Amino acid sequence: MLIKEIIKAKAYELGFSDIGFANFEVLDYEIEKYKEWLANKYNASMEYLERNVDKRCDISLLLDNAKTVIVTATNYFQEKQYSNDDKKGKIARYALGDDYHTVIKNLQKELINQIKQYYPKANFLNYIDTGPILERQWAVRSGVGWQGKNGNVISKKIGSWFFIGIIITDIEFEPGKRMRDYCGTCTKCIEECPTDAIVSPKVVDANKCISYWTIEAKPDLKIPDEITEANPNWMFGCDICQEVCPWNKKHEQAIILKDFLARNNENEIDLKEILNMTKEDYAIRFKNSAIKRAKLESLQRNANSILKKKIK
Ligand code: SF4
Ligand code: SF4
Repeated sequence: MLIKEIIKAKAYELGFSDIGFANFEVLDYEIEKYKEWLANKYNASMEYLERNVDKRCDISLLLDNAKTVIVTATNYFQEKQYSNDDKKGKIARYALGDDYHTVIKNLQKELINQIKQYYPKANFLNYIDTGPILERQWAVRSGVGWQGKNGNVISKKIGSWFFIGIIITDIEFEPGKRMRDYCGTCTKCIEECPTDAIVSPKVVDANKCISYWTIEAKPDLKIPDEITEANPNWMFGCDICQEVCPWNKKHEQAIILKDFLARNNENEIDLKEILNMTKEDYAIRFKNSAIKRAKLESLQRNANSILKKKIK
């Protein structure tokens, strides 16, 4: 068996849903698109995305002699219905379980240890949403999936409900085959986005996106009224453009790591509970949860905006 096949088998054993390999190249084409996105101010207040553009383009500035980008996909989908109860705020599926940064980082470390058995002198850098990396573009280049019109990478095996992990190494592996685009003539995600945030295929304007407003926007920023009006009670994130994707409807059965199962079996939280929460309650309630990406003040702003809509 080729070492690459052994590594793939180990990755599945550890709980990854898929793994792809891409040759190192400078991302000239992709970075031009990225710069265009920034020039349009589609990153809203996320100024950190304007930093390290050189590294996003050329990952050999992160790891000398980089040869391969190993991309892992880890499913987080679980079947759960939302009640649409106006007293509750919805949580996006990726944040229902334990914090994926910690879970996947540990899995990546285990995978790297396995690879080191064959390449003891090799060097590695691993990222899970934590570095200046164009993760989606590497996932496409590695053959894990294609970039859908909603901006997410879609795998033919597991749809788009997965975390993308990146391992850069100086080992040379045979690359995977870039997958063609299977969106075809479908435009469901663009049509169903309640705030028209998908301004053109694969381009999301964060200024209009519920996910940005409920997770990334600092607590002192007021959610615009038109976003609040259009938001069907998402309190942390928004899954609509993934829920409507036909590829996700077909491929919702992938195995999920127990770490990503919904904590307390809940996918919605009582809005009053959030408003009455103290900092101490918040620290206990969301310990090791991805929800801690947002401060308590942000969750309370989000909860208030949903309740305000109800009163109108
Ligand atoms: S996450 Fe929600 S608001 Fe953002 S683009 Fe998708 S459907 Fe639109
Ligand atoms: S909803 Fe349709 S257009 Fe949008 S990502 Fe899925 S397949 Fe592509």
